[in-house]
Amino acid sequence: MCSGRVDLGFILRAFSNGMDGVFIGGCRLNECNYVTHGNYHTLNTVLLVKRLMEHMGLSPERLKIEFMSGAEANLFVETVNGFVKQVKKLGPLGESEGIDRAELKSRIAEVTKLVPYIKLVNQDKLATRLKSPEEYNDLFTKDEIEKLFREVVSYYIDPAKCQACSICLKKCPAEAIVGGKNQIHVIDQEKCIKCGTCFEACPTRFGSVRKISGEPVPPPLPVEARTIVRKAKA
Ligand code: SF4
Ligand code: SF4
Repeated sequence: MCSGRVDLGFILRAFSNGMDGVFIGGCRLNECNYVTHGNYHTLNTVLLVKRLMEHMGLSPERLKIEFMSGAEANLFVETVNGFVKQVKKLGPLGESEGIDRAELKSRIAEVTKLVPYIKLVNQDKLATRLKSPEEYNDLFTKDEIEKLFREVVSYYIDPAKCQACSICLKKCPAEAIVGGKNQIHVIDQEKCIKCGTCFEACPTRFGSVRKISGEPVPPPLPVEARTIVRKAKA
């Protein structure tokens, strides 16, 4: 598989499944066969996941990316052997960091739930083509990642404003909006991937979708209170 196809979610899944280390081998930078240069994207993804690992209390040394050509078998063997040695030294995932299995699973699940949002917020940085390894450490900072989690955004439909036009419901990519004819629409926060489509889609004359950051989302309106009673035309 092309290294450019490695998604942030794939790496988290490997750790969630108990892998002690993840190694990604990609073609040399600037030697991609395609105009996409997907290996730069993978490099940035790895740099981001390393910060996410720090946030979860895991050693970022458990994740490694290396670039090489198909003719460099020796380099491949050397790199993999070196990484295996390093991971063995680090010990079992979580256990060595003082995090028990259940807690680790829940921390990874929390971050995994936010993958689309994390990718959206960092899309410009993920598309960057770094020029030298000296720049790797600064692409994503620890403070930025902590801020991202502290100020994570949620979307909420204001029941007093919703006109049940269903535009948001039709456009939501995660089927996270519940509604119907003359029914105030409600976002299922468990399903919402925080893409912001509903916020953009709700007609400005209604302005019913609110973007919330750093505060709890109000509880959903009870089902029996969702019907909109419209005034009959005179
Ligand atoms: S933010 Fe995106 S996923 Fe969440 S309800 Fe709105 S459109 Fe759906
Ligand atoms: S687009 Fe706005 S007004 Fe229409 S159903 Fe969604 S939240 Fe309500």
